[in-house]
Amino acid sequence: MVQMNQGYDILAKDSQYLWHSMKPYNPDVTMVVEKAEGAWVTDHTGKRYLDAMAGLWCVNVGYGREELADVAYEQLKSLAYFPLTQSHVPAIKLAEKLNEWLGDEYVIFFSNSGSEANETAFKIARQYHQQKGEHTRYKIVSRYRAYHGNSMGALAATGQAQRKYKYEPLAPGFLHVAPPDSYRSNEDGKEPCEMESVKAIDNVMTWELSETIAAVIMEPIITGGGILIPPDGYMRGVKEVCEKHGTLFIVDEVICGFGRTGQPFGFMNYGVKPDIITMAKGLTSAYLPLSATAVKREIYEAFSGTEEYDFFRHINTFGGSPAACALALKNLEIMERENLVERSRAIGAQLLRELKEALKNHPLVGDVRGKGLLIGIELVRDQASKAPLDVNLVNKVISACKENGLIIGKNGVTVAGYNNVLTLSPPLNIKEEDLQFLLKILVGALEIIK
Ligand code: PMP
Repeated sequence: MVQMNQGYDILAKDSQYLWHSMKPYNPDVTMVVEKAEGAWVTDHTGKRYLDAMAGLWCVNVGYGREELADVAYEQLKSLAYFPLTQSHVPAIKLAEKLNEWLGDEYVIFFSNSGSEANETAFKIARQYHQQKGEHTRYKIVSRYRAYHGNSMGALAATGQAQRKYKYEPLAPGFLHVAPPDSYRSNEDGKEPCEMESVKAIDNVMTWELSETIAAVIMEPIITGGGILIPPDGYMRGVKEVCEKHGTLFIVDEVICGFGRTGQPFGFMNYGVKPDIITMAKGLTSAYLPLSATAVKREIYEAFSGTEEYDFFRHINTFGGSPAACALALKNLEIMERENLVERSRAIGAQLLRELKEALKNHPLVGDVRGKGLLIGIELVRDQASKAPLDVNLVNKVISACKENGLIIGKNGVTVAGYNNVLTLSPPLNIKEEDLQFLLKILVGALEIIK
């Protein structure tokens, strides 16, 4: 364990040497987290915070699980590394276990991050069509507001312009359509957003020529873009459009997977079977980096018969490392033993109910929505216009929470000021008393801006 020595000016050293991910919402405050247990983290001053975001939506089984540390330690001692050009037991067993969780037959390619899992999916989709002689299919359709990762392909799939425009040109061949926004599109005289949004994807197939489309990618619920819960029939409708046009359906479960939405995987809320599924974060509860791209066996089989070096020209040095796979297996075992998927569903429904009740008369709370322990609170200037609340006021709520020992998230998209959704995604084993603490602090912080 690396510790801080006496007299070490940790904040000065931090600002001298570390380039942080994103700009913190308040650049004056940097938390140096030293340790964590359950849903609570402790910073360098000894102050404790309830982490209602589970890190970056990932520490699903909570912090401080010794059995996860132990299994990684034992695995590192017996086999620290071997590439998956050959094989090892933890990777095989984990791939088998993932098939149980997925409830169907998938072949698994391991990487280290969500971005890499999505890049892998795009390359598989493109080559799959090549294998079938469909040489014109290369475009990938995704949605505005979605985030799919930081690399040039995953960022191209991302539908948030402000994250992209400084780094262009990104990978070519990515198209975007609008996702359903149930909160805003149920206004009088409008077609239900479910049908409208499915039609938007169908129209892309027509206008772009479906023979050019390799795949559609989507999260079951858009997370980073502001917790957009789709109408029930939307994903099924999109899958039907994909089938009609011979296009693959990729589902990004990087956040929604592993119990976050009250089902093993988010797509299971909507009765669809994706062709390709990508996952990361909750796979190891973020104790070690690991991600996976699960591919329907029929798709994998389309690659058979190729020459050795034409098979799938994609390799990942660290992907599926033995310790990460062993740890992921243990993580899933913990989730099963403690019924954390069911717990997420039950506790999430309870938290959603309590939040709705507590905030029902708040003039600036436009919508409270969620599935499982994935919850968004959309703040608006007024109920009638639904215009997004000024981000300074949103930040005020977040700061007040933090001052009182609660970490929550802020999501949406900064273009047009839609960075106005407070987000909650706590560890799935969060205790009842911690949920009550969360409610008390959050509702109190929202009082400040009333
Ligand atoms: N997909 C989604 C839905 C994500 O939320 C993220 C990360 N927040 C990614 C992909 C990329 O994952 P990573 O940061 O591990 O590359």
